[in-house]
Amino acid sequence: MNITHGLRRALQVNRNGTAVIDGDRSLTWGEVGDRVARLAGVLQQQGVQRGDRVAVLSLNSSRYLELYLATAWAGAVIVPLNIRWSVAENRDALEDCGAKIMFIDAAFEQPARELAAQVPGVALVWADDAPAPADIPGYEALLAGATAVDDAMCDRDALAGIFYTGGTTGRSKGVMLSHGNLVANAMNALAEGLFASDTVYIHAAPMFHLANGAAMYSLLISGGCNVILKSFSPEGLADLIQRHKATEMLLVPTMIQMLVDSPAIAGFDLSSVRRIVYGASPISEAVLDRAAARLPGAGFVQLYGMTELSPIATCNSAANHVGAARDIGRHRSAGRATFGVDVRIVDDSNRELPRGEIGEIVVRGDTVMMGYWQRPEETAKAVIDGWMHTGDGGYMDADGFVFVVDRIKDMIISGGENIYSTEVENTVAQHPAVLQCAVIGIPHEHWGETVHAVIVLKPGAETTQDDVIAFCKARIAGYKCPRSVEIRTELPMSGAGKILKRDLRKPYWDNRERNVA
Ligand code: ATP
Ligand code: MG
Repeated sequence: MNITHGLRRALQVNRNGTAVIDGDRSLTWGEVGDRVARLAGVLQQQGVQRGDRVAVLSLNSSRYLELYLATAWAGAVIVPLNIRWSVAENRDALEDCGAKIMFIDAAFEQPARELAAQVPGVALVWADDAPAPADIPGYEALLAGATAVDDAMCDRDALAGIFYTGGTTGRSKGVMLSHGNLVANAMNALAEGLFASDTVYIHAAPMFHLANGAAMYSLLISGGCNVILKSFSPEGLADLIQRHKATEMLLVPTMIQMLVDSPAIAGFDLSSVRRIVYGASPISEAVLDRAAARLPGAGFVQLYGMTELSPIATCNSAANHVGAARDIGRHRSAGRATFGVDVRIVDDSNRELPRGEIGEIVVRGDTVMMGYWQRPEETAKAVIDGWMHTGDGGYMDADGFVFVVDRIKDMIISGGENIYSTEVENTVAQHPAVLQCAVIGIPHEHWGETVHAVIVLKPGAETTQDDVIAFCKARIAGYKCPRSVEIRTELPMSGAGKILKRDLRKPYWDNRERNVA
């Protein structure tokens, strides 16, 4: 079983169906199949052999999708680079993975030139509609001159991609995923009813992120349609939904919040949306409610996972977000283990905990990564007897529903009490003036650390520290309430749209030890 089996299937069952829409360009699966076999020929012409790494630094495009498929067809390894990283960060990744070739688009010409100057031996290819500069070969010209090559027919254990983790908690690591890992994940998503043959899916999050890559692998098997949003904006997304009657998309909570709070989307018809799949970080109930009000025809499905798990571990269906299931709080769960995945909650000594007790979430299955690229010690620490240690705290209820409470590194221990930053954030976010918030532990002589909230206000809204604290005191236990509140105009975000709490914590903790982490 390998990734190109998916493409072969799309060609068999849906050759004339639309595979991808990117601006004015629309390609059938037949056309994509032909271009992919020739693009694999281009890779070979450029000296890419089986197992060689092919880097991509680009906004979303149909060519990005072709590169995901052509690397698999050629037996090479895709390395999607983070478009929000600095040149220095991407240089580390490029050197780490040892890519010979890097596909870029016009948006990244300057950083790509700097990268090519700093990392010798990396050839650039121009993958953009705009004409290629004189010194960089163009994708379409290379494709026009190439002949189709045979599928490398990789086996399931062959390395298919190196995906760098979000870098939310520390230095990013390259996660090695095999063909088998990625196909197993694609099948698990299909088993949850996601990404069907009639799905019109918008790539709204950046395509370097595995979540979108994973959606694409599922759409390959089901033969659904990929619609490309070059880069995210609420208006751009609303426009594509209306134009292509899009049915499904995967959004991180920050994007959902930006979409539903944007005045710019007011006039758009979003009624075609049947499903919003969200995950990657916790969502506040207040945002979820605003989203449900703006998109009444949409079901909300939560996924929990991580790059190291290809990436899905659990799924909470739309049905659990409404009605009686919601009344008993099921919508707050990340759902149950997907098909083929085992989830357990363990203590520090790796013993399984009784249902309801909080410990570390560990996961086993065909989707567990091959390991971290060139980091055997870190792999050995993360994967123990086949179980991936997620670093996330959570519990499982009697029915197998997993509740993620916090990253273990983000938990706050104040006066010996465990406080989960996400629970406090959920409360602060209900305050009418609050647009976004992050809760961190800051040092305190007596308590070890105390709860500190950093908030961004809604446009025109006003509030005070005392008001926010009083609001929380009326809703959650006193020891969980923020002791201090700071108002900012924005929060530091990772390349994947997650709040960088380590950056918020840093000035408070420089030269001090944190007892968690
Ligand atoms: P790094 O590992 O480099 O610090 P990262 O963990 O953010 O970065 P990813 O693999 O993209 O990189 O993210 C996985 C993490 O995202 C999970 O370990 C978890 O903490 C968080 N996450 C994913 N899905 C959910 C969810 N549904 N609810 C809460 N947190 C989630
Ligand atoms: Mg991680």
